Amino acid sequence: MIIRNAHCALPGEEHLLKRDVRIEGERITAISTHLEPKASESEMDANGLELFPGAIDPHVHFDEPGFTHREDFAHGSMAAARGGVTTVIDMPCTSLPPVTTVANLKEKLAAIGQHSVVDYALFAGVSGNHLEQALAGDMAALAPYVVGYKCYFVSGMDTFTAVDHYGFGRAAAKAAELGRLLLLHAEDAGIVLPATKAMHERSNLEGREASWDDYVDSRPESSELAAVAGALASAGKQAASVHIVHVGTASAAVLAATGLPGTPGGSCETCPHYLAFSREDFADKGSSLKTAPPVKGREQAEQLWRLLEDGSIAFVTSDHAPAPEAEKNTGSPWTDYGGIPGTGTLFHYVYSQGYKAGRLSLQSFLRAVSGAAAARYGLSERKGALAVGMDADLVLVDPKAKHVVKGKDLLSKGTITPFEGMSLDGKILATLVRGRLVWDGRKKGSLPGLEAAKGTATNPEAATPGEHATADSIVDGIASDGRIVAPLGHGKQLTWGYR
Ligand SMILES: [Zn+2]
Repeated sequence: MIIRNAHCALPGEEHLLKRDVRIEGERITAISTHLEPKASESEMDANGLELFPGAIDPHVHFDEPGFTHREDFAHGSMAAARGGVTTVIDMPCTSLPPVTTVANLKEKLAAIGQHSVVDYALFAGVSGNHLEQALAGDMAALAPYVVGYKCYFVSGMDTFTAVDHYGFGRAAAKAAELGRLLLLHAEDAGIVLPATKAMHERSNLEGREASWDDYVDSRPESSELAAVAGALASAGKQAASVHIVHVGTASAAVLAATGLPGTPGGSCETCPHYLAFSREDFADKGSSLKTAPPVKGREQAEQLWRLLEDGSIAFVTSDHAPAPEAEKNTGSPWTDYGGIPGTGTLFHYVYSQGYKAGRLSLQSFLRAVSGAAAARYGLSERKGALAVGMDADLVLVDPKAKHVVKGKDLLSKGTITPFEGMSLDGKILATLVRGRLVWDGRKKGSLPGLEAAKGTATNPEAATPGEHATADSIVDGIASDGRIVAPLGHGKQLTWGYR
């Protein structure tokens, strides 16, 4: 099919350019100012609309198997597609068993089965209680299946414990040897654990209930900076293989990118909640805003935007981690579940408040939501750009429309979001994954040419089409402004190098 006259976000261009885009099967096969239709080729006029490469969300917790009362791949991937995300990378720590061995990974892949409507890759984990086995063989055995390894300097999970600086350095050397990245949740235990104790004592001494200030002060900016410094120092010459996840402190992001004296820098990501909110917002938003690390002072957000624009922060991720009402609102900031159902708002928020608001140039926007993650995680052969030869992972946006975020429309199992009620520029009309329409947000009868993108491409590794469950048959894939139209199972697993 041909998508005609769309304003296309092409690599290296300063502005959107009006182009025709040809999709054949799963790939983009031509982009030109004018394409002549082949015999029986369908066409869609996208005049006035914008076309972007599908977003990559390389940090989600879809919790399957083990914690599927919070999220699963069906709901998580539908939320992703609804928000313009065409590839997700799932974390190893919030499923049971955690992905620390090949046997556990295979259990996870079997559970995910054919539930995802977007493409997905996995991270493996290096847990403190499994470190020696990881170094002795599990990291190497997992390498063909995963695009990186994740560890924590402070962890609230009994099933996935923290590593110390020394263990991190050893794991970084192993990851580098295997040609993969080592990801770190960078809050330092040497600060967070005593600070948490001190904040409990503070509220007790003052004879009051715990407050959101207690929670934020228990995980200060210094804990992020110290963790990044400790990670880079421990990794030494292998620091280029280190990636720091969800940075909320600008100084930590700068250090992660530039490195310590005499050692290379690594890379880092931030998330929309660190760009959009600050600690003052807990007064209104309460536990819907709780994450770890927490959002910090108001001055951090503008600094993080600048670091995203100049490339010091490589890309944005959602850290999608929803939880039901009973876990989100327990009555205490200490026990409320930390996490946001963010994959559905990631692309749209950065499009509106970054690109459209002028904080990000077109190329910085494309790097932040798609290109840099594809490159860093070995997927750029087919993902991360609107270009000939790439997978036809596309997002069609109506730039003149507005969209108000509603948690109940996200399609995630989690509906509690700090972005509730936020008005964003643009409306996501369609999301295509490898040439197939997955999210259909059109008004009835509009853009009729897009019908051709329904069911044109199937995942050859998935079961025969007759065995596919539809999104509607398992879960409700309908939001007030559109619906999921691809079968669950359209998404396929990706590994390093897109093999
Ligand atoms: Zn996370």
